[in-house]
Amino acid sequence: MTTVGILGAGQLGRMLALAGVPLGKRFALYDPDPEAPAASLGAFTCGTWDDATRLDAFAASCDVVTYEFENVPVAVAERLAARVPVRPSPRALAVAQDRVSEKTLFGALGIETAPFSAVDGAADLDRALGTIGLPAVLKTRRQGYDGKGQRVVRDRAEAAAALSELGGRDLILEGFVPFTRELSILSVRGVDGSTAFWPLVENVHRQGILRLSTSPAVASDATARAARDLALRVLEHLDYVGVLAIELFEHEGRLIANEMAPRVHNSGHGTIEGATTSQFENHVRAVAGWPLGSTEARGFTAMANLVGTVPPVEDVLRLPGAHLHLYGKTARPGRKLGHVTFVEPDREALARSLRALSRVVLEPALPR
Ligand code: AMP
Repeated sequence: MTTVGILGAGQLGRMLALAGVPLGKRFALYDPDPEAPAASLGAFTCGTWDDATRLDAFAASCDVVTYEFENVPVAVAERLAARVPVRPSPRALAVAQDRVSEKTLFGALGIETAPFSAVDGAADLDRALGTIGLPAVLKTRRQGYDGKGQRVVRDRAEAAAALSELGGRDLILEGFVPFTRELSILSVRGVDGSTAFWPLVENVHRQGILRLSTSPAVASDATARAARDLALRVLEHLDYVGVLAIELFEHEGRLIANEMAPRVHNSGHGTIEGATTSQFENHVRAVAGWPLGSTEARGFTAMANLVGTVPPVEDVLRLPGAHLHLYGKTARPGRKLGHVTFVEPDREALARSLRALSRVVLEPALPR
């Protein structure tokens, strides 16, 4: 029996452990928050990211270390990597943490992105607006999540205000992409270089927060192939091990990469019930050096996030086919507290299930 260490013990760590225990794995979890949702699923260390003693003891208790949180300091991943294999590599983590290096890598691999420019002050912003134009999106290079740390700017006055609100430096200005829809491609690569891809997912966000994911997305074979191909380029370039998610905009029939997550991803939660092998199980298999499982769809899947409030549990459980996942987190506006998944034999049945869910969950992204 080997122990998989997970940096971060949020809901992603929780679902990783839930997928890995049946495979005989033990889990060690590290998180600064004593109330973290995965704390009870393995040996839990509550420690800060600068606590070298606790981090070293954690590394000593693990056979391999992964992360469920991409803002783990790269120095922590590197420190652990000197003691135990860290998968995905600290390099993949470093690239994904910085929106400028992420988009630079996409560009180098021939993957289209929105036009972008690093912004470290008013002169940079001015220059960037001159080349990128308006509207645009000003974002922090690091630490942004769920739409935090970014502002859509429509004119120069808004851009100047956003610059000071976001701290004035370490920012990126991106051209606003008037996308038709948002998609994501979830992929996985094993230690032996084998790869697998789940069907393309279509995502609906509100206030920068993912609300609804459906899969397989309605897409041409060419689009599905293009998504797999761009993910493969990133996986191979980084000699990546584990699950990698890439968020995409579809615009005028093209796929434009927005960002990558070097970990399991919210838009892949539907794979727990909706795929032969879930993203969580395949991530555990990959980091453990085991063969990957089939990513084939078991039907048409929809995953709705429970954001801010949890509806009455009985009302959700009464819905035929509803799979409820609650993360054990305290309710707060804008916080992801759980999700509900349906897997149905056809799109019509899936739409009916989502309409039934919309009578229980007050979520505007659900069809009515
Ligand atoms: P991000 O934090 O980069 O994932 O952005 C959160 C959400 O904001 C995305 O899912 C999009 O809905 C929107 N968004 C981010 N960047 C852009 C962009 N360059 N153009 C249009 N919408 C964007």
